[in-house]
Amino acid sequence: MSNRSKRLAIFRFCAPYAKRVFGCEEELYFCPICGNGFPEEAALTGKVLTLEDVPPRKIGGKGLLLTCRKCNSDAGRKIDYHFKSQIELQSLGTILTGQSKEQETSADFILDGVRYPVSVEKTKEAIAIRLKANDPKKIDLLKDHMTALSKNSGWDGKEFKIEKTVKFDLRLLKLAFLKSGFLLVTAMLGYRYAFDKRLLIVREQLLHPDLDTLATCFWIEPGKEQPFPKRRIILVTDPLSLFLVTYDMGAVILPSHSSPIGLYEIMRRNWEKGQSINFTGTVYRWPERAVMALDKRFQG
Ligand SMILES: [Zn+2]
Repeated sequence: MSNRSKRLAIFRFCAPYAKRVFGCEEELYFCPICGNGFPEEAALTGKVLTLEDVPPRKIGGKGLLLTCRKCNSDAGRKIDYHFKSQIELQSLGTILTGQSKEQETSADFILDGVRYPVSVEKTKEAIAIRLKANDPKKIDLLKDHMTALSKNSGWDGKEFKIEKTVKFDLRLLKLAFLKSGFLLVTAMLGYRYAFDKRLLIVREQLLHPDLDTLATCFWIEPGKEQPFPKRRIILVTDPLSLFLVTYDMGAVILPSHSSPIGLYEIMRRNWEKGQSINFTGTVYRWPERAVMALDKRFQG
């Protein structure tokens, strides 16, 4: 299916629910983050309503929902960039330590203080390092070095190293998980979830990643003895009603549609950093497509 057909399919699936839930006259798609409504034309070109991979494609995400261009490029890029950096750094690590599948990643090859941007690829036989620069002088220098290496049966005495630099902000990375978690639960439950007043603080935080609205009190990590199921949505019923969206390295806490108002504030008051908490709840798979289960049950 082309991206255009995917956008239209999501529009046509969600718009009737928006009509039912918000009671609007025409069929509109509401961006789950900013709440602006758009007509079907906005889904045609991908310039106004864009397909949002949830979670990002690099960790197996799919085009689950649409977000507006503004949310996708303003807040989205800033947040998603940190997802990408983290995944790249991990894949470089696994390639260089030989644990990897055949993945490509970017790094800098440093020889005599000169930096060569390269891609690193693991094949069955070897780790291949491919030059990405198109500066002919640099290419010649590296070729000379490689030729010397082969003539001297492998070593000309020069040292080289491979360096990977990523700009990294752990808070923004956690916001990337928050955004993805919010959109996963929204795809599962629909507009009645996304625009519930309990979610306002989450949407505010996603719209303004520079503001420290939630700090990182939405983020928890599994205990060593009690890992939680990965890549799942858990509807917790005890000690409080909330959602946990679990990833490989941790989980985000999101209000549920029956959480107490001011969930994060209650958590902050009652739970200390490092405290272990036992949760009881029901485990769901991440949705493969928009389901809008709460909207489906809603009778205007
Ligand atoms: Zn938006």
